[in-house]
Amino acid sequence: MIKNIAIVGGGTAGWLTANHLGQVLLEQGVSITLIESPNIPTIGVGEGTVPSMRQSLKKFGIRESDFIRECDVTFKQSIKFVNWLDKKKHGENYYHHLFDSPVLFGDELTAGWLGSEQNESYADYVSKQTFCCDKMLAPKTITTPEYIGINGYAYHFDAKKFALFLSKHAIKHFAIQHLLADISDIKVDCDGYITHLETADNESIAFDFVIDCSGFSAAIIGDKLGVEFLDRSDLLLTDTALTLQVPTCSSDAIPPYTIATAHQAGWIWDIALTQRRGIGLVYSSKHMSDEQAHKKLHHYLGNQFTDLVPRKIPMKVGRRKLFWHKNCVAIGLSQGFVEPLEATAILLADFSASLLAKRFPRTHADISLLNDAYNKKVSYVWDQTFDFIKMHYCISDRKDSAFWLENKAPDSQSEKLQNNLARWQRFSPIREDFDSKFDLFDFDNYLYVLNGMKLGDNKLKQTPVLMKKVSEQKKRQQYRVKQLLSELPDHRELINKIKEFGLQKQ
Ligand SMILES: Cc1cc2nc3c(=O)[nH]c(=O)nc-3n(C[C@H](O)[C@H](O)[C@H](O)COP(=O)(O)OP(=O)(O)OC[C@H]3O[C@@H](n4cnc5c(N)ncnc54)[C@H](O)[C@@H]3O)c2cc1C
Repeated sequence: MIKNIAIVGGGTAGWLTANHLGQVLLEQGVSITLIESPNIPTIGVGEGTVPSMRQSLKKFGIRESDFIRECDVTFKQSIKFVNWLDKKKHGENYYHHLFDSPVLFGDELTAGWLGSEQNESYADYVSKQTFCCDKMLAPKTITTPEYIGINGYAYHFDAKKFALFLSKHAIKHFAIQHLLADISDIKVDCDGYITHLETADNESIAFDFVIDCSGFSAAIIGDKLGVEFLDRSDLLLTDTALTLQVPTCSSDAIPPYTIATAHQAGWIWDIALTQRRGIGLVYSSKHMSDEQAHKKLHHYLGNQFTDLVPRKIPMKVGRRKLFWHKNCVAIGLSQGFVEPLEATAILLADFSASLLAKRFPRTHADISLLNDAYNKKVSYVWDQTFDFIKMHYCISDRKDSAFWLENKAPDSQSEKLQNNLARWQRFSPIREDFDSKFDLFDFDNYLYVLNGMKLGDNKLKQTPVLMKKVSEQKKRQQYRVKQLLSELPDHRELINKIKEFGLQKQ
């Protein structure tokens, strides 16, 4: 029987996993201990999420109001991609990848845009959410119940506060035990299954199952079990980040979106919390020196805050060949890493932990029934995520540096991505192109990015029947925009109100 589980690592991935497993296993007499090194800090970045985080928090029984109060949360309704197209051709350019579906008012709007002169951006044409973003509005009002959105939304938060918040919840509600110790070794049986974790203080603790959430070090799955790491730096060229936190005033408007500004060797994220902005310059060290990166970051900040020293974070892009090996599963950065564009890492950890909780083995014999299917599903979502991120680079018409040119090389793209892009160049995507339940990024996401980046010569003929439908949908959309602009509060104003009064429980 599997009765004693260890989670090694107390970062976002460790505590997300503790909540997922705790919720399912609490009443089955299984004991879960989260072991965290008192000496190795968590990575402390990872502040942008996607909308599915709402479902996980709600499932854990967390009050959205408490989360907003304790983790410096702001709402995220979009990612605004700036200068991902050639400036010489398009001037200063941007597009939104919104969280509202582009087909909220009907499929025909996409067809209408494809057949139009495309003077208006795709997102503006199909959705009302860009207007709310431009006006810095919240996605809901103080009377909208917790986790419900008038507009689609995810969150930005303080990463350190989020891990602490999740830990308090898991300990209080799911009886997770918390141990501070450095794991220095493991003991395995003759079949290679872990029997004990050994601490730096020479303690040996018996466990039946181990989840490795030890971050980039992959202390168990990589270091001790030797599961291969599949390097993907041939696909995604960025391998370093410089991060900074810049203070803001309590009266500054808070953009309800992440800003992702491309530069000649990568991009810069800009995430506004209530009292600071988290900023990170992501770059390929092969194409940009550290000195150039520092200059670029300070230039982005208008050469203000020059006294702040950025933190340099090397990024290992790739994934484990297996995520579940013997009685060990890796979740979080120990699984692998896709660079932070589109905030995919916490999503992948959340997805993996939720899947493991749904199919957790009761006995050692169950492992061989479950691990193959788990490895296949998780590999699929990782490879799909690599493709989705890579697509942002390889469909750009930027040619201003070796970085952008190399991103277009066919051998830096998977065969599946090349085939999809060749088809979408001529035929706009349809929902049926995304046929797996495990497509974490699907039709809606691809429409925003492909059309935002103006890929393809798939102009559609504007027939009178189509235009009649477009005009009806546009009318509904315009009416809704008017309604929303008067109904939705300012983003900061809502955050302040939630902190004071809270949202209604759903
Ligand atoms: C530059 C950058 C930007 C990012 N931005 C985003 C983003 O916007 N959105 C997003 O979704 N993700 C983002 N991520 C990823 C995100 O930060 C991580 O996925 C998330 O924080 C989870 O990290 P983790 O818990 O796996 O690892 P960590 O936070 O590194 O935690 C590792 C834990 O393991 C413990 N540990 C390590 N070794 C041992 C040992 N031997 N014994 C005991 N304990 C041990 C440490 O003490 C720590 O508690 C970003 C990552 C980087 C690098």
